[in-house]
Amino acid sequence: MRIVEWRERTVPLDGDVRNAVVSFADHTVSIVAAVSDQRRGGRPVVGFGFNSIGRFAQGGILRERLFPRLRGADPDALLAGDGRSFDPAAVELAVWDLEAKLRDEPACATIARAAGRAPTPYPVSVYAAGGYYYGDDSVRRLRAELDGYRALGFDAFKIKVGGAPLDVDLARVEAALDVAGAGSCLAVDANGRFGVEAAQTYGRALAPYGLRWFEEPGDPLDYALLRQLIDGYAGPVATGENLFSAADAENLVRFGGMRPEVDVIQVDPGLSYGITEYLRVLDRLEAHGFDRTRCFPHGGHLINLHVVVGLGLGGCEAYPGVFGPFGGYAPTCAIGGGTVAPSDAPGFGLEEKPDLASHLAAMVEDLA
Ligand SMILES: [Mg+2]
Repeated sequence: MRIVEWRERTVPLDGDVRNAVVSFADHTVSIVAAVSDQRRGGRPVVGFGFNSIGRFAQGGILRERLFPRLRGADPDALLAGDGRSFDPAAVELAVWDLEAKLRDEPACATIARAAGRAPTPYPVSVYAAGGYYYGDDSVRRLRAELDGYRALGFDAFKIKVGGAPLDVDLARVEAALDVAGAGSCLAVDANGRFGVEAAQTYGRALAPYGLRWFEEPGDPLDYALLRQLIDGYAGPVATGENLFSAADAENLVRFGGMRPEVDVIQVDPGLSYGITEYLRVLDRLEAHGFDRTRCFPHGGHLINLHVVVGLGLGGCEAYPGVFGPFGGYAPTCAIGGGTVAPSDAPGFGLEEKPDLASHLAAMVEDLA
């Protein structure tokens, strides 16, 4: 068995929104297709992956560096030891999708087997992430946005902070709490915006609300800032979406003051080095006393839903209404009561998401 062709496509990310640091108006994402010599239903089996949300597309490095290396590699080097399956560690996300399709099972089952565990029973916890800054009438529009998420079946929410003065952000938090109903159903995300004094100021102001978590208060690699904040902030702190590796995660829990029973780790396999490295991340975290249910990967999309179910993590996020065609779940994924479940589609089920399926189909329409 062989992967006979590699393809990539750059797709614009929907959503003219911004957080405290980044505007997503011009963002793009890369889709990778791994075309195998295996056939199902008269068509080649193709694995698809994409690079999560929050980085630009990487077509240049794919075309100029990665694909030439893959084409030049010994084909057996891309196989697992038994020679009868592809090794996802060699390429990562698209090959997890390919392997699951060849086994005719959802990717969560393939991921769970690779980790030596059974998939978590469906459904799993999900929260709606949004609460961006709108400019005019931001507080009213924020409330309307969260009301819309509740109508879709979400009962926990996350909003942005740090992109406005503290008094405006607190008005936003209180408007969001009106919809969420309790601090335990509302998280805030500063996207790494603050220095230590601002992080502590926000920490003191947010503490009375008893929020679900305070996310990325400062630079993702400023572990001293994190430790200083946590010293004076009793509530949960969440971070990790901008870390890449098991070594990064270990440094975070060694030096960031993260509390195993309290805090939340958000390393995102598709923003970092993939699911294989994520398995190493979990090993390191567990060695430091963190339960894997403290892990909520950044990135509200189908790939991370399968990772959460396959590995028994705490839950998923979702971005209803923004970050299409990658963000969000397929209509076949039941969302309700604050939970989401993957469908039985083979692989990550990306073909079941209509706005994404058209891009995938266009990448392989010439294949016979
Ligand atoms: Mg975040």
